[in-house]
Amino acid sequence: MSTEQRKPKPVPVVSPWARPFWEAARERRLVLQHCEDCGATVFYPRAYCPQCLSERLGWRDASGRGTVYSYTVVEANAPSAFAADVPYVVAVIRLEEGVQMLSNLVDCDVSQLRCDMPVEVTFEQLDDEFTLPKFRPAAG
Ligand SMILES: [Zn+2]
Repeated sequence: MSTEQRKPKPVPVVSPWARPFWEAARERRLVLQHCEDCGATVFYPRAYCPQCLSERLGWRDASGRGTVYSYTVVEANAPSAFAADVPYVVAVIRLEEGVQMLSNLVDCDVSQLRCDMPVEVTFEQLDDEFTLPKFRPAAG
């Protein structure tokens, strides 16, 4: 499929309560919601705390560090906006703050991947509006 025929990649649908997450990502900062009432760290962004139903959710900078909980290497794909990217890695990252994030592992040797390996956030600008948090093997 030629570049001209390729569909653009889908962009996130941003709810009002997720807007701060995407604004921070555009500034290359990873932020997570924090419940002011019970102390829970919350991801994905929500209007209410899933632990205590409080609406008093604030935002805190995350460390950007975590470990690989699970991953898969996509080596073949039906024609789509992602077909040109194969092989690519889809992973569940367990962040230090205790929540999990579905993302991509980038800048990595696929043969060296393993569960529990330390990773750190990196950012990939998609367009003027969206920058995506992704993860790469932690330095050192
Ligand atoms: Zn709470």
